[in-house]
Formats: sequence, C-alpha cells, structure tokens
Amino acid sequence: MSAPEPPFTPFRGARIAVVGLGRAGLPAALQLADWGAEVEAWDDGEAARRAAEEAGLTLRDPTEGRFRADALLLSPGIPHRLPRAHPAAMAAEAAGAPILCDAEFLYRAVLASQSPARFVGVTGTNGKSTTTALIHHILAGAGRPSQVGGNLGPAALGLNMLGSEGVYTLEMSSYMLERIATLRFNVAVMLNLSADHLDRHGDMAGYAAAKARIFARQTAGDVAVVGQDDAATAAMGHGLRARLVPISGLAAQKGGIWAQGRVLRDEAGAILDLGEAPALPGSHNAQNAAAAAAACFALGLSRREVAAGVASYPGLPHRLERVAQARGVTFVNDSKATNADSAARALASYDRVVWIAGGEAKEGGIESLVPLFPRIGRAFLIGRDAPVLAKTLAAHGVAHDIAGTLDAAMPAAAAAAFGGAAPVVLLSPACASWDQFTGFDARGDRFRDLARAIAKGVA
Ligand code: ADP
Repeated sequence: MSAPEPPFTPFRGARIAVVGLGRAGLPAALQLADWGAEVEAWDDGEAARRAAEEAGLTLRDPTEGRFRADALLLSPGIPHRLPRAHPAAMAAEAAGAPILCDAEFLYRAVLASQSPARFVGVTGTNGKSTTTALIHHILAGAGRPSQVGGNLGPAALGLNMLGSEGVYTLEMSSYMLERIATLRFNVAVMLNLSADHLDRHGDMAGYAAAKARIFARQTAGDVAVVGQDDAATAAMGHGLRARLVPISGLAAQKGGIWAQGRVLRDEAGAILDLGEAPALPGSHNAQNAAAAAAACFALGLSRREVAAGVASYPGLPHRLERVAQARGVTFVNDSKATNADSAARALASYDRVVWIAGGEAKEGGIESLVPLFPRIGRAFLIGRDAPVLAKTLAAHGVAHDIAGTLDAAMPAAAAAAFGGAAPVVLLSPACASWDQFTGFDARGDRFRDLARAIAKGVA
C-alpha cells in the first residue's frame, strides 16, 4: 500500500482575514483554513457570523486592535475605496496588507500544486456571465477538464483543483479585478464598456482602469480577446503584450472573429450560423459567441468543437430565457436586464413584444430606448418607478398600463399577447428589482412560475 498523500497546505503559515461571509466569503474562508491558513473571519451581520462560527471558523473583527493578518480577503460587494472604504479595508491598508479577492487565492493554490491548468478571465460591462458560461460549455463538450466560477458563481474557492489540460474560466467583475495581485490570465476577454458602477470607481477612467487589469501580467504567449464594438474597449487593445484577437458582433475584424449577419466567422470562413444557436439571439450575443470562440481557439479547440458547443449552448436563467410557450406566444425572462442598456439588447432581439418593465430605474430612465419603442405592442409597468417609465412611453405614444406588481402585470400581458399585440411577452425590466424582490433572480423566478401557470391554464 502506498503512503497516504500529505495534506495540501499551500497557505500554511499565512494569516488571512476574511471579511464578508456571504455566498463566496464563507466557502472561501473554509477552503483557506483547509489549505493551512490561519483564518480570521468577520462579517458585519450577526447571522453570517453565527453561520461561520457553526462551520468551525474563528471569528475576529479585524478593526479591533492591531490588524495582524498578512492579507485581507474582502468580499467584492464591500468597497475598499469609494463611495466609502469599509473600516476593515482601511485597517488593512494602514498595516500595508494587500486586499485580495478569492480568484487570487485560487490562482496561488493552483500554482503551488504545480498544476499547469490555465486561466481564462472574462470581463466587460455586459455579457460576462453569458460568455463565461459559453466558454465552459464549449470546453466541457469537447471533453476538456473545465471549472467555471467567479462572479457568476460558484465562488472561485469552491472550484476543484485541475491538472494538465485543465481550464479555469472565471467571470471577473471590476471589483474583483481591483483585488488581484499575481493572477495572470492565459486568455483575457474584455467584451465592452459602458457607464456602470461609477459610485465605486469614481469615474469612467477609474472604471476602465479597473477593467484593464484583466490584461495585467499577460506575456507574449498569452491571448487578449478584445471587443471592437465600442471605442473605449477597442482602445484597450492597443499596446498589449499578449497576442490581440479582435472580436465583434457587427463588423469584420482583421485577424479576429466576427458575425456577418448571423454567421460567426473568421478570415478562414464560416464557423457556424448562429441561427443554429437558439439561446444566443441578437448581435450582443453574437459578440459573446465571437469572444467565446476566440478564447476556445486560443486554448487549442477545433472549429468543429467550437461550432458544436455554441450551437448546443442552453443559455443562462434570467437572460433572454424562453420559459413557456402557449397559443403561439413565447414568454421570455430577461430579468437580469437591470439597466436600459441591457433591456435595449433584449428589445432589439424581437420584432414585436408585449413588454413588462419597471422597478428601481437607473439614471436616465428608459430615454435611450426610444428608438426601440416601435417594437412594443403594449407595455405593462411595475415597481416604484413605473410612473417615470410611463411618462417616457406616453411622450412617444406607446400603449401602456401601470400594473403595479408582476403578479398583476402577467395575466394582463398574456391577454394582450393572446389578443394579437405581439407573439412575445418579454420581462426585461431596465430597472433594479430591490423595491419588490430580493434580487433579479427572485423576480425572474416569479415570472417563470407565472408564465408556466398561464401556459398550463390555456393548454
Ligand atoms: P453580465 O454578467 O456582464 O451582467 P450577462 O451575460 O448576465 O452579463 O447578460 C446580462 C444582460 O446584458 C443580458 O440580459 C443582455 O440584455 C445584456 N448583454 C449580454 N451580452 C451583451 C453584450 N455583449 N453587449 C451588450 N449587452 C449584453
């Protein structure tokens, strides 16, 4: 019998403060402890603290007394600078300890295990989750050992260790990118940039700088996949050390991958017709597909493997998710569209819709959607800012009702669609959900349940 393997303890001797013990923080703290670190866990919420203690973690408020950890793993949702630095971040900074995210620790552990597994990082304002999930789907379909996580969940430190041929695909938010120190992506994907999260980053320049960190430490053997459909992102492709692969959902790219109409292609010809990929409608998803194809080619996959993976991609919940069909009407859950930019992509993906929107509107409301208003057969508005949205719709002569709640909007929207207003009932709220739901996922789940009940009722 061979001797048992010694435990893998890459962080033995390190003291790590973990602050924010939510979905990602708690498993991270447990994994770091398992990997030999001396973990001091903390959360401002009592329930989270209790859960951590029950899981066997040692609690310590890092702002009490001297900050003594070597590093602070701070949950991405907790600011370390703007709009106001959390006291734990200030304590770490005063002590000269780095503030890191869980992906950084995963990278260090993988390196310590001497695994040659590669890392793909995906960022951008919109399309991160779709592109990340699509890359994983293509890799898994081609039989590659693949783990996917990060912002999209599961948390980076919940992932399995991979050996040779292994690929980690991580969705990287700007918040996470600010907190990497040694992590180097073999393939870095930067999709697009539009104004978002400016409260945390100060201004557009600060936000762009955070996103550009996806390329930090890349070398000549690495690949940078860079969206060309907005000027700010395209500019980020200049002067990189990695090999640049330009991608677009709209226009031909020298040396890159793009969509010509619905055909995804490169200079060698067609890769596949996106008409065969029902979960990826719209030119925004063509951009996501181009990015995923570029990343997978960089990892050595064949055209056939990429085409098969894109065509069979099942889609993610809450992103143009087709949840029910009845009497020629399709119900589409796009609850993830929490801003006008995302809702614009959804509206542009269908010729005519009955539209359900509303919640907590973002700055600018739905003014930017005016060019797409001719596609709206009738709108049903919900949530706190329904009157704000109604005003914009009324100014442009779009038929609409203030329904108040999703439960009230659904039967009315379905009746309008069955009556011929449009073949699609689309929930794409252009608003945050916090006024009526615990999050966009709860809102989308409710829409799915209601849509399925309606479809069953008329069947
Ligand atoms: P993220 O993870 O970046 O929030 P998702 O893949 O979850 O992105 O998509 C969220 C919403 O953003 C989608 O419902 C869609 O409306 C929009 N979207 C997706 N991909 C793109 C893209 N490439 N460009 C612009 N908008 C997009």
